[in-house]
Amino acid sequence: MTPRLLIIGGGLAGTSLAWRLHERGVPFMIVDRDEPQTSSKVAAGLITPITGMRLVLNWRIATLYPEAATFYQQLEQELGRRFYHETAIVSLLLDDKAVEQWQKRQQQPEVQPYLNEASSLPLVDESIFTNPYGGFEQRGAWLDTAAFLAASQRYFQTLGCWQQAEFPFSESSGPIQWNGQIYTHAIFCIGWEAAKHPWFDWLPFRSGRGTVLKVKADTGGETRIINRGCWLLPRGDGTLRVGPTYEFNFDHPHHPSPAAVAGLETKLQALLKHPYEITGSQTGVRPIIQHRQALIGRHPARPNIAFMNGLGSKGVLRAPWLSRQLVEHLLDGKPIESELDLAGNF
Ligand SMILES: Cc1cc2nc3c(=O)[nH]c(=O)nc-3n(C[C@H](O)[C@H](O)[C@H](O)COP(=O)(O)OP(=O)(O)OC[C@H]3O[C@@H](n4cnc5c(N)ncnc54)[C@H](O)[C@@H]3O)c2cc1C
Repeated sequence: MTPRLLIIGGGLAGTSLAWRLHERGVPFMIVDRDEPQTSSKVAAGLITPITGMRLVLNWRIATLYPEAATFYQQLEQELGRRFYHETAIVSLLLDDKAVEQWQKRQQQPEVQPYLNEASSLPLVDESIFTNPYGGFEQRGAWLDTAAFLAASQRYFQTLGCWQQAEFPFSESSGPIQWNGQIYTHAIFCIGWEAAKHPWFDWLPFRSGRGTVLKVKADTGGETRIINRGCWLLPRGDGTLRVGPTYEFNFDHPHHPSPAAVAGLETKLQALLKHPYEITGSQTGVRPIIQHRQALIGRHPARPNIAFMNGLGSKGVLRAPWLSRQLVEHLLDGKPIESELDLAGNF
């Protein structure tokens, strides 16, 4: 039977999958609610190779990063829009312990490809940014996720393969039908809400609500991303984003707790020496599956149901590679590695 796939959810997961199917000439339909605030739309979109308190390399960075860069850059060409921005990221160290950690880490050969020789010292303008412990500059990128998703949606709509709708839950184990069409597979890319779906509620989701602030401040024309306790992203249009927050116990997906916002502001005040103004904020929920980098594959009891989820806080980096793995599995029968296989985690 010729494959024809229904993608439920048009965030970074569903949209990357759609592009992978489009590359292969396989027919598909995306069904998405088209909500104004989703994890994918509010994300800052950063790719930060050396990350976290322990300054470690991101999971499989050497494979995932070049694939992500090629994927987004080719789509910029195809769509005639700019949304992928390579940039330097300045990581300023927080304390003596971080300095010690970095002294060891910077010797390791695997981090070298991601380091920029600092063109001048000090790393940042210290009349603007607090920097008592120094730091380093790495080669990163950021994706304007909202622009990427909007351009993809427009493109797929013109081809008639993107629909705004709520896909209803059905217990039916028969063929997959949508709007009078039959599909060989349905791929659920529904983000954190999969935890509430009876087919996926056995997975150990521990999703995290996150907020990004829109900020006005004088940063002396700084164009790099500056990271110290929080990150500050100059978007090139005169606006700044600051984030993130993490909240694991929450009721509303789009209303951050005052405590979380206050915590982020405390970090921003510790970074910026000048006054700033908050002009807005956006909140979404990162889909996180405990102890997993992500899960893809077929449902263990329903082989015509597939899944791509758990991208956590790294969806921009991971979605292009994971979507290719899933498409090669569904179309070519290529096995999925056990640590990423949904069925293997049942
Ligand atoms: C504040 C914040 C900052 C972040 N910063 C970064 C960052 O800097 N770098 C990075 O890589 N990642 C970042 N992330 C994480 C990134 O956003 C996620 O990894 C990614 O968006 C997950 O994509 P997804 O497609 O799995 O989920 P989602 O974006 O949640 O997409 C799911 C889609 O499914 C739709 N849907 C759900 N149910 C249905 C249904 N029944 N019918 C139809 N449609 C449905 C939803 O409307 C939604 O559009 C951030 C996230 C947040 C919240």
